[in-house]
Amino acid sequence: KERQRLDKVLAHLGYGSRREIKKMVKAERVTVNGAVARDPELHVFPWQDCIEVDGEPIHYREYIYLMMNKPQGVLSATEDAAGKVVVDLLRPEHKAFAPFPVGRLDKDTEGLLLLTNDGQLAHRLLSPKKHVPKRYYARVKGEVTDADRMAFQDGVILDDGYRTLPAELTIVRSGPVSEIELVIYEGKFHQVKRMFAARGKTVTYLKRLAMGALVLDEKLAPGEYRELTAGELAKID
Ligand code: URA
Repeated sequence: KERQRLDKVLAHLGYGSRREIKKMVKAERVTVNGAVARDPELHVFPWQDCIEVDGEPIHYREYIYLMMNKPQGVLSATEDAAGKVVVDLLRPEHKAFAPFPVGRLDKDTEGLLLLTNDGQLAHRLLSPKKHVPKRYYARVKGEVTDADRMAFQDGVILDDGYRTLPAELTIVRSGPVSEIELVIYEGKFHQVKRMFAARGKTVTYLKRLAMGALVLDEKLAPGEYRELTAGELAKID
């Protein structure tokens, strides 16, 4: 693999700005293969060289994969002029990788959101041809019935005339406010809400539970996130 500048490698891993790293190098806190680095622009092999900061070896990697339980009120974006975005919830060492959300959840939707800087993986998961299943939990005003389940199985016509692909509706509890799970194989704008609207019903709460083989870790409270495990990454890649 290629050589890279020491300051760029450390900045990528979230050790600070280039300026801060320059200071760390000048303070002799950084070593490369056991020798004190004196030049922040020194070229290193990040995959092979033993680079240490304050005696601790760095753990080089190019990509980061984060599972977030997106809270309500936050936009699935990297920046927004007005509102709070999911990237604002990341700690500096993760923000340093410049991850972006893979797909979108509405501002008022909670649940599984994958963030990564791996554009190829994002592309594979979002490709309309792949039909990656997405599983949602929702609360719906009014009684959700077996007729709704069959309509979703056939595909419903949305407000713009689009007919949805077959989707699997599971009625968890039917009542004045129903609870359901729905698996869809595409991701049109506001799809779940519009599918229920097509049946004359209103979604009052929506949470994504899974995307492909990736399942939301229920230990994550809204707003919390963690890195994917190696096993999770292997499953989705
Ligand atoms: N469907 C919706 O209506 N909203 C989401 O955020 C995701 C799926």
